[in-house]
Amino acid sequence: MINNNERNNQRMNNKPEKPASNNAKNGAGSIRPASRGAAIRAQKRTQDDAHRIANQYLDASAVKPDDQRRANFIDDGPRLKIIGLGGMDGGGSKNMLLIEYMNDAVILDCGNDLGVDLPGINYGIADTAYVESIKHKLRAYIITHGHLDHIGGLPHIVPKLPAPIYGSRFTIGRVDEIFQNFGMPLPEGFELRTVIMNEDTHEKLKIGPFMVELVRITHSIPGSTCVVLDTPVGRIINTGDFRLDPNPLDHERSDTDRLKELGNEGVLALLSESTTTERAGRTPSESTIEQSFVDIMDRAPGRIFVAIFSTNINRIQMIVNSAVHHNKKIALDGRSMISTLEMAVRNGFVRIPKGTFVPIANVSQLQDHEIVVVCTGGQGEPSSALQRMASGDHRHVKLKEQDTVILSSTPIPETGNDALIGTMVDELMRKGVHVFRHETHDIDGVGPLHVSGHASIEEYRDMIDMTKPTFFVPIYGSYRSKQRHIEIAVEQGIERKNTYNADNGDVIAISGDKLEIIGKVPYGTILVDQTGAIVSNVVVKDRLILAEEGLVAVVLTIDKKNGSLLTSPDIISRGFIYMRDNEEIMNGLRQELRRAVGQRFKRVDLDRFKQEIKEHVTHYLFEQTQRSPIVIPVVNVVGGKGEVRTFVNNTSTPTKSAEDIALEQQRRFEEMRSRLLGQDARTD
Ligand SMILES: [Zn+2]
Repeated sequence: MINNNERNNQRMNNKPEKPASNNAKNGAGSIRPASRGAAIRAQKRTQDDAHRIANQYLDASAVKPDDQRRANFIDDGPRLKIIGLGGMDGGGSKNMLLIEYMNDAVILDCGNDLGVDLPGINYGIADTAYVESIKHKLRAYIITHGHLDHIGGLPHIVPKLPAPIYGSRFTIGRVDEIFQNFGMPLPEGFELRTVIMNEDTHEKLKIGPFMVELVRITHSIPGSTCVVLDTPVGRIINTGDFRLDPNPLDHERSDTDRLKELGNEGVLALLSESTTTERAGRTPSESTIEQSFVDIMDRAPGRIFVAIFSTNINRIQMIVNSAVHHNKKIALDGRSMISTLEMAVRNGFVRIPKGTFVPIANVSQLQDHEIVVVCTGGQGEPSSALQRMASGDHRHVKLKEQDTVILSSTPIPETGNDALIGTMVDELMRKGVHVFRHETHDIDGVGPLHVSGHASIEEYRDMIDMTKPTFFVPIYGSYRSKQRHIEIAVEQGIERKNTYNADNGDVIAISGDKLEIIGKVPYGTILVDQTGAIVSNVVVKDRLILAEEGLVAVVLTIDKKNGSLLTSPDIISRGFIYMRDNEEIMNGLRQELRRAVGQRFKRVDLDRFKQEIKEHVTHYLFEQTQRSPIVIPVVNVVGGKGEVRTFVNNTSTPTKSAEDIALEQQRRFEEMRSRLLGQDARTD
């Protein structure tokens, strides 16, 4: 099924098919004579646009050959190889590093990328073609922390490349959670193997020739750790995502003593996360926002709703504390919120006094001043719990005048979420809801409502000073933020020749005294849809073109004997122009089709005929509308004994029920996506 679709799509893409024209005026009366060449050029432009957009996410087999210079990376000499399979580009997402030494290898982090904005695509994961080629070497996955951009690739990749997963108690709790909630069946006989490590006791475990240790670090999710890997060549440290919060709410400070100790013993290479290396100073402590919640709860006239990422357990604890202090009950909403909090409670990461929680369905039975609802939706995601409460679509709760909504997050950069949030805030304020956002906390007369989970420049500096590495490789960030990080390292005394701003696929080889790039391994992005299934890049390109230009199918039923049309040509259009408003064009098209059948059907073979019809229709529609939808000719040739042979040279024709199915899928997709986005954020 999928193969057929792909083949069809391929064919469509090989033919000039699409045009670009945003300024097109549709409808009769706007006819502009266009040459066949102009129509084809316009098609090519749209096709090129689709390629350009979709090619940001090529899989390894499609990455340009000159980018795949394999050099001598297959050497198994006594050098340590560090390879970023993901996370060395963009905002640092689908983070995944491979550490390889002779006959052994481990993977550090294995995330997904929720920032992929392509039709029907839920997220991207790293292409593991290279790891598959050295599958026999893989000993373990070691995870720094439980955010999706560090663990979201595991359910796809581990069943294919099995090895135990190491992490802190909370991280492994998150790993269990995402495997349980994974939409696709796992292969027969697959067994999830995990190893919980204590991040406070400096315990070391042996994995092949490596020794691994986790060191506690502060971030925006419990159980965050630096991964310390002692290799035969020397010690490397992957910081994972971090900030150095001097006063975290759970009093679990970064283990800076241990980091200094490791530094004094000697660190060969520091692989340091680079998300916010362009932010001066130090990130404020999480505890600086505690009072803001107390203040807002003091003065809120009615119910209180707090939108927050579900993995930010310490902040949820803070809200719980404040609610208990104000004699309020708490209801949770959003699937990811409930799932993650259940796991956190089970593992003892949240303390909630008995009787504090009430089911969301019971909120209507409580007095307004008794209620705090903690939910997802702070990014304005269209089908989040908060959005549904705002629009009145929520089953149990509808927002009303004198409710208070607190958005305890900031828009994830480079996502366009700020526009979504703006629309949601407008809607809330229109209803008379009091809205508190971090951005406007000053003018609202309250303290800050959000702090970043990532370091600022002075903390990145501290990390380098504590660990005193010989080599410095910035990871998990865009080129510019990694470059900035290198400048910080050089300022702290690291020799520039001992640093490298690597791209995905680069093979960094470190011997005792030298860092060099010895080649490139296959790398890329695998796209995943809402069911968890892989989607071909070719399919995505067609979706982009369909989204831009729509689709027109023409159905011709032709008498085999005399080559004449047996019925008036059927024209089906989706996403192109509204046919009822454009009858003139459609009638003109029918006339063109009648003429084409009369002139060409008996003269050329069927394939050629279909091709000509397609080109003719494309040209005609472009001339009439300056648009160039995907054209699908369907030719039924009715033979002597009345049998009908149908020749479709593309996908099936859309029907009413297919449309319903598509709508249903779209709805499910939005739900799934908002659930994922509610869990955590790349840069938060
Ligand atoms: Zn993180």
